[in-house]
Amino acid sequence: MLTTLQRIVEAVNQAPEFEVALDTMVRSVKAALGSDVCSVYLVDRENREFVLMASDGLRIPVGERISLNFGEGLISLAAEREEPLNIANATTHPNFKLVEGVEEEPYRAMLVAPIIHQRQVLGVLAVQQQKARAFSGEEESFVVTLAAQLAAVIAHAEAKGLVSGQQSPWMRNLSAIPGAPGVAIGQAYIGKPIASLSSVVPRRTEQPWREIHRFRSAVIKTRQDLRELAEQVASYVAADTLAIFDVYQGMLDAASLGDAVEAKIKEGWRAQTAVKLVVEGFVSQFEDLDDSYLKERAVDVRDLGQRILGHLQDRKHVEESVPESCILVAEEVTASMLASIPRARLQGLISLRGSANSHAAIMARSMGIPAVFGVQDVPLNYLEDQFLVVDGYSGDVFVNPPAQLLQEYEELQEEEVELAGIVKANRHLPAETSDGIQVDLQVNAGLNLDANDELGEHNGIGLYRTEIPFMMRERFPTESEQLKLYKDVLQSYRGQPVVMRTLDIGGDKPLPYFPIQEENPFLGWRGIRMTLDHPEIFLVQVRAMLRANVGYGTLKILLPMITSVDEVDEAARLINQAYFEVRNELVQTANAPTMQRPQLGVMIEVPALLYQLEAVAQRVDFFSVGTNDLTQYLLAVDRNNPRVARLYEVYHPAVLRALQQIADTAHKLGKPVSVCGELAGDPGGALLLLAMGYRTLSMSAHNLDKIRWIIRNVSSPMLQVLLAQAMNAKHPDHVRKVVNMKLEGLGLGGFVRAGK
Ligand code: PEP
Ligand code: MG
Repeated sequence: MLTTLQRIVEAVNQAPEFEVALDTMVRSVKAALGSDVCSVYLVDRENREFVLMASDGLRIPVGERISLNFGEGLISLAAEREEPLNIANATTHPNFKLVEGVEEEPYRAMLVAPIIHQRQVLGVLAVQQQKARAFSGEEESFVVTLAAQLAAVIAHAEAKGLVSGQQSPWMRNLSAIPGAPGVAIGQAYIGKPIASLSSVVPRRTEQPWREIHRFRSAVIKTRQDLRELAEQVASYVAADTLAIFDVYQGMLDAASLGDAVEAKIKEGWRAQTAVKLVVEGFVSQFEDLDDSYLKERAVDVRDLGQRILGHLQDRKHVEESVPESCILVAEEVTASMLASIPRARLQGLISLRGSANSHAAIMARSMGIPAVFGVQDVPLNYLEDQFLVVDGYSGDVFVNPPAQLLQEYEELQEEEVELAGIVKANRHLPAETSDGIQVDLQVNAGLNLDANDELGEHNGIGLYRTEIPFMMRERFPTESEQLKLYKDVLQSYRGQPVVMRTLDIGGDKPLPYFPIQEENPFLGWRGIRMTLDHPEIFLVQVRAMLRANVGYGTLKILLPMITSVDEVDEAARLINQAYFEVRNELVQTANAPTMQRPQLGVMIEVPALLYQLEAVAQRVDFFSVGTNDLTQYLLAVDRNNPRVARLYEVYHPAVLRALQQIADTAHKLGKPVSVCGELAGDPGGALLLLAMGYRTLSMSAHNLDKIRWIIRNVSSPMLQVLLAQAMNAKHPDHVRKVVNMKLEGLGLGGFVRAGK
């Protein structure tokens, strides 16, 4: 039976059209069970009916709509109960009702399985037989299994607007992952990569030196392209975001791609083939990673490879006419593709693949371009030339929307423009509530940083993630490589605190050159657990940080994933050791500068730490709350698993209570505490954190101005009322409602509004 099941599932999934998929399903099930009829009915919510969509056995008259009202017949009963019905003689059942118009009279036995997707009944799969008989348990579970498979096929078709009843002149909205907030209205413009790695046919060469020369000249041209693209966008993206182009340039270095490609050419491959082999190798390494941010780096590597390939194939980039108000749509929007569209024309972007962690998403946020990612199951050409509304708050995309919806979105857009203007004009003002409570706003960083004039007022870096430079290499970076990197950061932020986190790598973020295989990576060898097991790696990093800090004195060291006090003790011991080593080395140099001991802090992101705050406080100088991991571990929801994404709720009452408890305890113990997870940059989240007593919030640079403006519009009594209401709520949705209502009331609804 298993092979029959697999065969049917495969045939249904490969069907070129939705109707063919349904037809394949009913024919295959009928044949496999030797029954007389198999049919699929789908729910039409608008007309409150079950519509007969496909049948093998019942004859559906051409052009006629055969349906049953909600509440009628065994079809409705199975759907209502959300469980299968297996009835030997259906005609005697009190709920039995003949479906009119399909000559259903002769059939007695009936097996009906509801088709359910994400808790919603989409229809039923019904099997019938003339002879009165109960279907066997095996037959029943066979049909239930296929109904579950069919659910995904139907849900995808619904998303594409292919299910009948939805083929009105405007197509249904498509759902995607929000990537950058805002509303965009415009015409779809399909962006295509310059060249395609996958279409390169591997070829060998007799003249490797000639090929190496061609490769090197393609790299030079690619570097030039990247410089030009970076210059084009320099005027409207933050310097931190521009660093994406430095990362690209870094990948072109010999130590990254360069040497590997040349080695392949020396093995006898042509330059194009060598680029394909090396880049695809890197891409699959990145794609295998569990961490969603690092996984997204595959896109950058592929993009870069295709740019080099474009030069090797001597392709000229054809300037196509970009519509006045364009929504860039691509299979995979890359940072460089985004940079190549004139800013004045670019309204929004849709990337069929990718996520909010992609570099294109980071850039879109920085450029203020509404963006959505991961629109599944829609072919690119379906969107070509269509008129679109992109809702970057909710992730909705409307294709050819009706006039009323369009008008609502146009009004929203106007409101947004007004808000954005006010927010930007006030970026130099202090983050202070109307009754004078001062808040320190800090930046989360991790890419290379230039001196950043673009950002509004802030107070240094609250979280510098150090893992990215470790990812971009083929081995651990040396102490001097790290020294240079950390020094650059401290120099850029001279005079302001910089909190550098020690390597948070491990099960979920394995390095390409340090693979870790684990069943449960998020519960595995991560962060401090891994680095304490490898003091040689930890010491090199800490020494580099301490040496970089000489002459600045602004460094603070932060430890990730701390679960127990002994981890703090051990890390502190190693930091001490590194400190004395570096100091002794310095003393021996002429005019030795004085060396400052950096403050030490821990991330509060493993719930176990909530019960050990007092003991930990005796050992460290500050706490920093990582709400991203704290939420994942408190709720037992993998932060990267789309299947449980609905359950990952930072507004969950348990998370809010934990955050309140941390703030209260830290204040009681007199320990400075900040928040560096995403919640700090969320408008509602920032208000709740403020109300709980947090006074330092660290966030992505693009949220700074918005959060400052929100803070300036609230007062403590107002916040206390809000907090009391939020703490009273029993469900994350209620918390969200309370918070959004407050923001609406303050005229700040534009920051959270739209679609949903
Ligand atoms: C967090 O967990 O909230 C955090 C800031 O760290 P990261 O997202 O890097 O795990
Ligand atoms: Mg974390």
